[in-house]
Amino acid sequence: MKAVVLRQHGTLEDLAYVDLPAPEIGPDEVLLEVKAAALNRLDLWVVEGWPGLRLDFPHILGSDGAGVIAAVGEQVEGFQVGDRVVVNPTLSCGRCDFCRAGRENLCDEFKIIGEHVPGFFAQLAAVPARNLLALPDHVSFAEAAAASLVFVTAWHMLVVAGRLRAGEDVLVVGAGGGVNSAAIQIARLAGARHIYVVGSTAAKLAQAEALGADALINRSEGDWGRALYAATGRRGVDVVVDNVGAATFHTSLRSLKKGGRLLTVGNSTGPRFELDNRYLFARHLTIIGSTMGTQRDYETVMGLLFAGRLQAVVDTVYPLSEGVEALRRLERGDVAGKLVLEP
Ligand code: ZN
Repeated sequence: MKAVVLRQHGTLEDLAYVDLPAPEIGPDEVLLEVKAAALNRLDLWVVEGWPGLRLDFPHILGSDGAGVIAAVGEQVEGFQVGDRVVVNPTLSCGRCDFCRAGRENLCDEFKIIGEHVPGFFAQLAAVPARNLLALPDHVSFAEAAAASLVFVTAWHMLVVAGRLRAGEDVLVVGAGGGVNSAAIQIARLAGARHIYVVGSTAAKLAQAEALGADALINRSEGDWGRALYAATGRRGVDVVVDNVGAATFHTSLRSLKKGGRLLTVGNSTGPRFELDNRYLFARHLTIIGSTMGTQRDYETVMGLLFAGRLQAVVDTVYPLSEGVEALRRLERGDVAGKLVLEP
C-alpha cells in the first residue's frame, strides 16, 4: 500500500511517499480502507519529535481518518465489511480506573493514532473497533476526517473540562486553526452570549464571524488586550480559549473577569512562559488544561456534526501522493480550515 511516512525525526525533508506492506489486524481491530485523512499541527510536532516519543520507523503520520471497513477481526461485533466509519483518534486501554470511569483521555496508557502508533496517511490502517463510529451516508469522508480530532478536543475543553454555560462571554485567541474554528461553533451552540475572536487577518476573522463569532479584534491593528478590555466594557470575559501559549498567555489571563477560566489544549508559540501569580489568586482565576476527549464526547460532538449543527471547515483536499506538499503548506500556515488527503 502507499503511505506518507516519517523515516526519522527531523524536518519535512525526512518524509517520503512510499510502498509498505498492508497492516495486520488484531482480533479486536478492523482493517480500514482509508478514504480521507486530515492534517493536524500534531503531525508537524511528531515530525520534530520530543523526548519520550519513541516510534517504530518508518512511521505513518495522520490522526484523523475515515473510510470503509475492508476486514474485521474475529472478536469484532457491530461492524461489517463495507461499513462507512470515522475513527476517534484517542486510544485507551479500557481497563484502568480512568477508563472504567469513562475518562478515557486520562488513561494510564493514553495514546493518539498517528502520534504514538501508525496513522491514516496510507491506503489501509488497522484500527480498534471500539474507536469506530458509523458514518451516515450524507456526511462525506473528508468532512468526517476533518472534524474528528479538533471537534472532540474543543468539545472536551469547552463543555466537559471548561463547563461553559449559556450566557457566558468567551474569547478565542486565534481565528485560524481547527480547534479554534470548532471552539467558536461549540461556544455558539452552548449559548455563549458574546464570542470575541482575536485574529491576525481580515480573511480569518471573516471566517470566524461566519462560524458564529460576534466581536472581532484584529491583532495587527494594535494591542488586542486593550481592544478586548474596551469591547467588554472594561469587564473582561468569563472564559478564554488560548492555544497560542507563550506569546499570548499573559494577555489572555488579563482578559478574564474575576472568577474566569482560561482553557488550553496546546501552545503554537511555545510551551514555557512566566505567570504573575497575583493575577491568579487575587482575581480567583482558574487555568484548565485538557487534551483530546472521551469516546462519549466523540459520539456527542460527531452526532452534532452529522445533524448539521456543527460544520467541518475544509480548506483543500489533496491526493495522498501530495501529502508531503500538504504538510509543507500547513507548516507555512497559509491555511483557513483543514487540509485533507485522499488515498
Ligand atoms: Zn485506560
